[in-house]
Amino acid sequence: MATAAANGILLIADISGYTSYVASTEIEHSQQILAELLELLIRHTRPRLTLSKLEGDAIFCYGGPETMRGEAVLEMVEATYAAFRTRVESIQRHTTCECEACRALPRLDLKFFIHHGQFIKQQVAGNHELLGSDVNLIHRLTKNHVSEATGWQAYALFTEAACRALALPTDGLHVSREAYEHLGEIETHSLNLRARYEEMLATRQVVVTPAEAHGQKVVEFAAPPQVVWEWFADPHKRNLWQPGNIWSAANRPTGRTAIGATNHCAHGDKVSEEVIRDWRPYDYYTVDMHVHPGEISHPIDNRETIILEPLDDGQRTRATFRCRTLVPRFYSPLIAWMYYNVIMPKGFRLLHQYFASPETSA
Ligand SMILES: [Zn+2]
Repeated sequence: MATAAANGILLIADISGYTSYVASTEIEHSQQILAELLELLIRHTRPRLTLSKLEGDAIFCYGGPETMRGEAVLEMVEATYAAFRTRVESIQRHTTCECEACRALPRLDLKFFIHHGQFIKQQVAGNHELLGSDVNLIHRLTKNHVSEATGWQAYALFTEAACRALALPTDGLHVSREAYEHLGEIETHSLNLRARYEEMLATRQVVVTPAEAHGQKVVEFAAPPQVVWEWFADPHKRNLWQPGNIWSAANRPTGRTAIGATNHCAHGDKVSEEVIRDWRPYDYYTVDMHVHPGEISHPIDNRETIILEPLDDGQRTRATFRCRTLVPRFYSPLIAWMYYNVIMPKGFRLLHQYFASPETSA
């Protein structure tokens, strides 16, 4: 039995609607569905966090100390919720079963609880048992007043400590105070996951199709899509594999990387601007890039879609890059070919190196 003190993220993903669900008579179907959904939760959080244990209808995981950006935590939570929702709806569509468990499917939903603090890691028979008052706190937080105050069935609740440690944008989140015996009053910020999911479904997709692309490149990476996404989405990580460019987050109208947000790229005394047109972690994103005239004589406005697909049960990723010059010229295919076969391969080689090294692969 080994113990170690640590500091980091604590996360519980809790399937709700389930307690009444197992109480029903058809245990077989309810167990089967629950096992599948818990597995889905583990698969979607595992690349960035470590599973401590299963707790009935919930998973408890942790990460730390410097494992994630606040925005990356939000994207992980939203993408996991979207995968959960899609799966539940698909099971529901494909079942003809009339049993109580299957009929209860529409009531199933998902809540996330995220805290940041200290914990003692105790290794018991291969499991990481976590101990400490912050571990108690996150478990107490699963009983709160958010649903009562807002009517939300699916949400992500962040403690004040989590918001501070992760530098989370809290604009528009529901603020609530919960009081717990021995732990005092805790301020929380909650995000309506169902609303975010429906907003995403309603947003028009912007994708460069194979037919309209002037160039395409497919690259496979030895890292899960969640990790590859972060190396493309985080400007700091991007600078590590695109040397010579200095990427920085520019405008963030919603406080987050989302449609309409911009990034700047400085190279020498030139600045290129990138506008996000579509953003769906960890499936794909589309950006419009205004490349400042540098070595070439005309400015180029380019639209690029990058699609990530999991390979080998989510352990590896196939990335498909497609670009299209927004004002097509006869040399557009040539420029796209140069971009993917002369300029980008240097960056791809660096990315392969990072993913091959255990220290930097997160
Ligand atoms: Zn059934």
